[in-house]
Amino acid sequence: MEALLSRNFSVSGAWRLSVAETRGAYETARKVLGSMRPEEVTQAVVASNLRGLGGAGFPTGKKWQFLPQDNLKPVYLVVNADEGEPGTFKDRYILERDPHLLIEGIILSAFAIRSHKAYIYIRGEYIEPYKNLQRAVEECVAKNYLGKNIFGSGFDLDVVVHRGAGAYICGEETALLESLEGRRGLPRLKPPFPALVGLFGCPTIINNVETMACVTWILKNGAEWFARLGSPGNGGTHLFSVSGHVKRPGLYELPMGTSLKEIIETHAGGVRDEHVLKAVIPGGISAKILTSKEIDVKMDYDSLRAAGTMLGSAGIMVMDDTVCMVKMLLLACKFFAHESCGQCSPCREGTGWAYRIVKRIYRGEGTPKDLETLLTIARNMEGRTICVFADAAAWPIQSYITKFRKEFEDYIKNGPHG
Ligand code: SF4
Repeated sequence: MEALLSRNFSVSGAWRLSVAETRGAYETARKVLGSMRPEEVTQAVVASNLRGLGGAGFPTGKKWQFLPQDNLKPVYLVVNADEGEPGTFKDRYILERDPHLLIEGIILSAFAIRSHKAYIYIRGEYIEPYKNLQRAVEECVAKNYLGKNIFGSGFDLDVVVHRGAGAYICGEETALLESLEGRRGLPRLKPPFPALVGLFGCPTIINNVETMACVTWILKNGAEWFARLGSPGNGGTHLFSVSGHVKRPGLYELPMGTSLKEIIETHAGGVRDEHVLKAVIPGGISAKILTSKEIDVKMDYDSLRAAGTMLGSAGIMVMDDTVCMVKMLLLACKFFAHESCGQCSPCREGTGWAYRIVKRIYRGEGTPKDLETLLTIARNMEGRTICVFADAAAWPIQSYITKFRKEFEDYIKNGPHG
């Protein structure tokens, strides 16, 4: 398969405009802005089956079509570069190694939704990605690829790079907007959705970095070509971050719908010698865990949902037989207890309570009743809060305990060294 999103990752200095242009950067944007109408670009994205690659998987073109047609306010495009999901490092590669692919996708997307101001909200910890992205934006401004009358097309677009301060919850789109407006990053109640009332009260489209990067390829090679690359309803390729106990951890660009088994065994080289696969988290820490018998599944939004988990951020964490599930749950619970924004009682209290119980189990002071208590806490966190963070915190508790119940029971009975 031809690399698209990762095509320039190994090209030295591809983040510089001069190098990126020798690789074809901005040819598509120049052509599209001079020959297509905004609604034609949106239609191409709809037909491509591009889904939001930040984790939600919502069809991108359909989201754009939610913008009000009779709107008199400015429309904003916000790019979510706050990649904070543990086990995920795909956007980082685009930001650091090929920011012009992202900027070209932003130009095309902004043109489609008639936005003249785009914000890229980048995770505070991403230092090198930020530097390369900021320099790439400045180079584009200097060459009038951003600003007024881009490519002589009459279309204006300013891009602002905004650095976050390191809160995981700011990856949630409405918390991101709050943060961008200068307030604490607390998720908003929805509806209204950002397409109607978003940044500064104006219609706003929020898309992930990788999603934006795909738009250039859709317009370059056609919507049908892009749709055919993936599986039904899941167009294109995806960057899979593979970490954990495999021989070749790393970032792999593969068609949507590639089997998880193939990614682990063929591309990542399988688990370490003399060990066997125990479990896999297919989509970042929030995704429900799969056992070694459940990895024959397609990595796309619909197949993983049918398998009882989710594609999420496509951060694949592989665990071999040396992994203690009690410790894994401890780490997950610690993370969620730390990152809860605290607005909703089930989330604020539930994440902390679950963490304290699992910590006690891990110390060897668990009781048989603890597992039921944990499952009750998780059940009461699900679907009762302002954002899906509480659900994401509940899923590891539910899936680890349900699928590895005997291991938890043995640990409680016999202690850490039993
Ligand atoms: Fe904050 Fe948790 Fe409520 Fe989301 S679910 S708004 S993270 S308290």
